[in-house]
Amino acid sequence: MSSFLKKIVAAFCAFLMICNFYMGYTNKVNADVNQIQDFVERNYEYILNRHSDPQGLATWTNLLQTGQMDAASVVIGFLDSEEYTKQNHSHGETVEILYRVMLSRTADPDGYNTWTGILDDGMSYSYLVNGFSGSQEFKNLCASYGINPGQITLVESRDANYLTTKFVSNCYSSMLGRPADRGGLNDWTLALNNHTVYPEEVIRGFINSPECASKTVSDDDFIVVCYKGILGRTPSNSEVQSWKDVLATSDRAFVIECFIASEEFSNTVAAYGMTFRPAPAPGYSYDTKMVALTFDDGPYSPVTNRILDVLEAYGGHATFFVVGNRVPYYTSCVTRAESLGCEVGNHTYDHRTTLTNMSAGSVRDEIVGCNNSITNALGHGPVIMRPVGGAYNATVCSNVDLPMINWSLDTQDWKNRNTDIIVSRILNNVRDGDIILMHDLYPATAAAMEIVIPELVRRGYTLVTVSELAEARGVDLQNGTVYTSFRP
Ligand code: ZN
Repeated sequence: MSSFLKKIVAAFCAFLMICNFYMGYTNKVNADVNQIQDFVERNYEYILNRHSDPQGLATWTNLLQTGQMDAASVVIGFLDSEEYTKQNHSHGETVEILYRVMLSRTADPDGYNTWTGILDDGMSYSYLVNGFSGSQEFKNLCASYGINPGQITLVESRDANYLTTKFVSNCYSSMLGRPADRGGLNDWTLALNNHTVYPEEVIRGFINSPECASKTVSDDDFIVVCYKGILGRTPSNSEVQSWKDVLATSDRAFVIECFIASEEFSNTVAAYGMTFRPAPAPGYSYDTKMVALTFDDGPYSPVTNRILDVLEAYGGHATFFVVGNRVPYYTSCVTRAESLGCEVGNHTYDHRTTLTNMSAGSVRDEIVGCNNSITNALGHGPVIMRPVGGAYNATVCSNVDLPMINWSLDTQDWKNRNTDIIVSRILNNVRDGDIILMHDLYPATAAAMEIVIPELVRRGYTLVTVSELAEARGVDLQNGTVYTSFRP
């Protein structure tokens, strides 16, 4: 390195050190180190049930004091630790501990009952910590310490909608007699929130499970479980007796359907903010088998046109999720697709990375850019989009002003590029209401469509666009919501 460069580097380093010193100095003025240490110590004392070690205390205090971490993140770090999990605290104990740590006081009865109930209903510790850190009482404490209260980014499905989670948790406790496991709770709430299942189907899933059957050997037990699981209440003796009379001349499946069809269950579902599976649109029925073939990453005329040829020959429709910056080069593919009744959807402007890696502004730019390309080609914009790689998070959902369409059957054609594999993946797995993922970039995919499309038609499938499939199944697509299939 030349001596001139060395001088520049040295000057720059000196500048950085002055900046750091100045920032450190400013923080020292605003932050109350003793109070921050007390806060960190409370995390050790109440959550880990031991005193801090000097290094741990210094590290956490410094992270808070310099603003590198906020208070909520520190608390959840302690609460989600293996050391805390091993202590096996009840929900009530956890709430009491959080009052001590975050608010430096004991719980009032109302707060204790509310938060314990929320944990019992299946919400996570992160949700609980956010509740505390959002309170004015905690904000005031943090302001007096000179630290940032913060909020945890909620990533689990069970934290997305409290009422949905409460509904599923009640299914576990009343029909299986146990608390929900985290994985099961996340799976059911994701499916309910995305409308791939509906509450009446969740009820049937739980009550018909072997685990529930093993707990409802007697008719009395079965009827009580129907009341608690479906209607959320305990029956009177006369109610139990009247259903026993019904069971004498029918079977349990009939009784379950009577409960599901009751006005009381309808009110329960509404109280949870949910709806039943919508009836199919006029002219359709769930007996009409349908499938939505979807092609991403094009257009690319040598492949796209081959697929359009076979769709045209068999009167089928499909959906093409196009990359905006490719559209001007292959405009005729896009207009031909639409003229054949196919749908053109948005697959971002340049597909350079997943939307989850982007700021809110960049997400919007990617969507608007592709919308403009489609409008230039067709004279109107798309009504659906597919995120790159199917990846999404809260930022993506709130900045994409279109329904987001993922898939239920993945051919992995981009990886295998093998006609036989693509054909067998589809024909061995396809189900009514599936959305099938492919890419109109590979000749192997076009060759597979020349086999798959005639075979699906022979099996009685109607090949529809994603929008047609949703409409046929009575689903009103919502912006920012992710859909993976419209199976019955
Ligand atoms: Zn893609």
